Amino acid sequence: MNLCDPKTIRKIMSVHGIGFRKELGQNFLTDSTTVDSIADACLVSRDATVLEIGPGIGTLTRSLAARYRRVVALEVDRNLIPVLEDTLGDCGNVQVIQADVLQADLAGLLAADFAAGPVAVCANLPYYITTPILMKLLESRLPFQSITVMVQDEVASRLCAQPGSRAYGAVTASVSYFGQAQKLFTVPASRFLPTPKVNSAVVHIVLWRQPPCQPRSEEMLFRTIKAAFGQRRKTLPNALAAGFPELNREQIRGAVAHIGQPLNVRGECLDIAQFTALSDYILDCLTANRTAPGAGF
Ligand code: SAM
Repeated sequence: MNLCDPKTIRKIMSVHGIGFRKELGQNFLTDSTTVDSIADACLVSRDATVLEIGPGIGTLTRSLAARYRRVVALEVDRNLIPVLEDTLGDCGNVQVIQADVLQADLAGLLAADFAAGPVAVCANLPYYITTPILMKLLESRLPFQSITVMVQDEVASRLCAQPGSRAYGAVTASVSYFGQAQKLFTVPASRFLPTPKVNSAVVHIVLWRQPPCQPRSEEMLFRTIKAAFGQRRKTLPNALAAGFPELNREQIRGAVAHIGQPLNVRGECLDIAQFTALSDYILDCLTANRTAPGAGF
């Protein structure tokens, strides 16, 4: 059975009495070369376990199963589980789990796999929750060897943008704290069923073994990044003033001077090391404000 053939996909869906669920981002791949290229792009050894998010009807899953020791595939749509039992029935190294990846206990599910060898993530992500899924994977701190995901082309450009470029945003800065993202190749919209409105691209993220920056508080780092991009057209001091109403003007000017930037700098010009230094400085200011005589009374 060729799972990339649109006629076959439609037949499978009709035999199981189901349709494509747009609200779950169901656009299935119809090009076997693209499928195999995504599976190859994991760049892990054959003894690896691969976590796949959203196997759909099992197209990418089969390609991963042919290359790696084990595949754990999380699919939220209950209707697709009987389909996957059919299409993956002959793949002894695949475990399909009906679960929402955002709710799943990934550490628990993959504990034995992390003990056994390398673990990587590979997925054609549902586009409506790309960023929450990526942030969950990164913030989990699980030692994935790599994360290879297909996302909308525009999102791929954003994930891999350099500071100072138009595409650089809060998600770029946040991802760069956890690893290095690289856009590998684009995939035209015509290679999916149903055909989406925009092209896609595959991004490969290699997690830092040693983080390049160590903020004193990660929570403050992410709050600082959020504030800096919260008012995108504003200068950094104005954006920080809106995001940190607890700080006075002098403290905000001091924070920007601390990272050696002029007062007209914008958040999109800062790299993750500058955001780290900025957030440490802001943390000190907030602590000083709280412990100042009379504070809180
Ligand atoms: N891997 C298949 C392919 O490449 O043809 C399907 C990819 S399709 C873009 C996204 C898949 O993610 C769908 O099967 C959808 O049901 C599933 N999905 C959507 N939200 C999910 C969630 N929160 N957790 C797990 N799977 C999800």
